[in-house]
Amino acid sequence: MTGVLAVQGDFLEHEKALLSLGEDCFEIRKLSDLDREFDRLVFPGGESTVQSKLIKELGLFDRLKSEIERGTPVFATCAGLILLCDTISGNDGCCFRTIPADVKRNAYGRQLGSFYTEGEFKGVGKIPMEFIRAPYIKSASDDVEIMSVTDGNITGIRYKNQLAVSFHPELCDDMRIYEYFLSI
Ligand code: GLN
Repeated sequence: MTGVLAVQGDFLEHEKALLSLGEDCFEIRKLSDLDREFDRLVFPGGESTVQSKLIKELGLFDRLKSEIERGTPVFATCAGLILLCDTISGNDGCCFRTIPADVKRNAYGRQLGSFYTEGEFKGVGKIPMEFIRAPYIKSASDDVEIMSVTDGNITGIRYKNQLAVSFHPELCDDMRIYEYFLSI
């Protein structure tokens, strides 16, 4: 059972992807939603500043952070990745800070920064990658595993139980990266 953070962003697409693989899921919108039994978390793309604000205002921050820290597998895409990184280049507004990495927001430019490509993802193979005003990882500590690199920039990382990518697998039909996540 996967809890999908549903305060903002493209959580519905993640739910569809998980359901297509037979993984049940529910939406996390308020603290009592976390009273349910679950063994995984998904943080969708969207707008990280808005998500971060809502996570704190809705009182979800402490509970979610402790879930991440106790080892619950998390799959985070785009804005979700930003929520996990320890620092945001040239910016404050960090959220969980559970991955020792520095992330650059809107790293490809604000408007023209959306593009599609295909690339190798470690342990998965060549997958479609949809980038939408995407961040990339500027630097990461040595124990952060690099899962994908796009045009010389890090776009996929794994740190212990946390898998985080700059792109949007939920917008593509290729489900292999979800299968990888479900195997963590
Ligand atoms: N640009 C967004 C941010 O900084 C992320 C974009 C996305 O999730 N597609 O939060």
